[in-house]
Amino acid sequence: MNPELAPLLVASHKTDFEVYHGRLYIDGQWREAGGGERVERLSPAHGELVSTYAVATPEDVDAAIDAAHRAFHHGPWPKMKGAERARVLLAIADGIQAQIERLALIESLENGKPLTQARAEVAGCADLWQYAASLARTTSGDAYNTLGEDMLGLVLRQPIGVVGIITPWNFPLWILCQKLPFAMAAGCTCVIKPSELTSGTTVMLMEILEKAGVPAGVANVVTGKGSRVGQPLAESPRVDMLSFTGSTHVGSMLAGVASKKLKKVALELGGKNPQIVFPDCDWDAMVDAVVFGVYFNAGECCNSGSRVLVHESIVERFAAAVIERAREVPVGDPLHPDAKVGAIVSEQQMNDILGHIETGVSAGAKVRLGGGRYASANGLYLQPTVLTDVTADMGVAREEIFGPVLSVIAFRDLDHAIEIANDTAYGLSAAVWSSDIDTCLKVARGVDAGTIWVNTFLDGYPELPFGGFKASGVGRELGKQAVEDYTETKTIQLHIGERKNLWLPAKK
Ligand code: NDP
Repeated sequence: MNPELAPLLVASHKTDFEVYHGRLYIDGQWREAGGGERVERLSPAHGELVSTYAVATPEDVDAAIDAAHRAFHHGPWPKMKGAERARVLLAIADGIQAQIERLALIESLENGKPLTQARAEVAGCADLWQYAASLARTTSGDAYNTLGEDMLGLVLRQPIGVVGIITPWNFPLWILCQKLPFAMAAGCTCVIKPSELTSGTTVMLMEILEKAGVPAGVANVVTGKGSRVGQPLAESPRVDMLSFTGSTHVGSMLAGVASKKLKKVALELGGKNPQIVFPDCDWDAMVDAVVFGVYFNAGECCNSGSRVLVHESIVERFAAAVIERAREVPVGDPLHPDAKVGAIVSEQQMNDILGHIETGVSAGAKVRLGGGRYASANGLYLQPTVLTDVTADMGVAREEIFGPVLSVIAFRDLDHAIEIANDTAYGLSAAVWSSDIDTCLKVARGVDAGTIWVNTFLDGYPELPFGGFKASGVGRELGKQAVEDYTETKTIQLHIGERKNLWLPAKK
């Protein structure tokens, strides 16, 4: 039986939103694309025009790379004191805070996520700039005073150069702010390519950077399709590092392209993140976190807790409890103040998710909740879905679905749970639910993932590094090393006093 879901929320009011027309931002100038072409973005929740963007030509991308190259090699930014860069980054944080409403509204309309959630994300972005500002002043190299009395060793950190940043549509501003402030704190210059579906907050952020006094060429934005606008960033020998968040497929392809130029690559990719549930856990907290973990951002989240591994003794009790909570999740118009889940980002994404569910059912999974689109809606709304009787070999247990679909898998004992958890290509995050500290620590040590949550899920702090094992990525963002990732080290060996240990005998 598939229980009835709460009715879709419909917003009672219209916003006074004006269609936004974004231009390219290159070398501190706003400009139309060379070919004059524009792309439109309709809101996935309402089908209404939200924004239009300039479609950059290869010449525009070249101009942006040129500007970043010039700003790095001849501009003031890389040579400025850390304290001066920090002041600019703090001014950007203030600028974001002053525009929370404007940024959140376009983020919500372009992506389909609830406006209340978008507001919280934008506020969190300001915090990321503040954290990066603190690192701009404190990131340092090393000194070795242990090499003997005639030698002092210095390890300097220098900005790596021009960074190409390519971002996806699921957390457009947040993901950009996991990268750009830290690259800028290091003294790098950047060329940014946002997703064609959600370019609004990235372009608007450049208005804030301009007002905060960021010198021309330090941050440049080129909008348009990835294959045309993003790929040149991986290919160009004048881009020193590529920082990408998105699908494992595109990420690995770009890493291949970038490796031919021997450039540094940082990749934050997909996940198939297990929450592992033991019978002795705090039941209500776990059920809430499972529902939150999979339906937050409509499951369009690399950290989505999309598979739950449950001890075989409690599978039925677990399924009943999760279904009961999941059917109450308020889905609907992202502008409705009560909506916790909004629209799916695009028709293509909707079809991909439905395709995954279909494949799961053909393989023997049972749809116990949802499983389809909301019939009455204009927008792209998908029902919170629970699949049970999933086995570890099925596609729905192994592949990233990127939608509101939970797969429930039974395990026999702790070792079996760890074995299933590790039996995917991914390794981004995981959670363990138990009141036994030994169980928690064994799982935390045994599961291959960049983040392990213990009796909680999806918490995040700028201070803590984030990234994945295996096919979930390369490198870490955030944490106190966040700025170091955008630097090269240079070793300086300083000889002190007369150099006595000559290679050839001294001249008589
Ligand atoms: P993509 O990996 O295709 O897109 C991510 C970014 O890469 C976008 O800016 C995109 O541009 C750009 N891009 C695409 N192709 C190229 C290319 N050849 N060269 C350079 N840049 C390129 O992800 P999608 O947005 O299409 O989502 C597909 C799937 O990826 C999802 O279903 C999900 O499984 C996964 N995903 C994972 C994310 C994560 O956070 N780890 C985020 C988003 C998606 P554009 O789209 O404008 O063409």
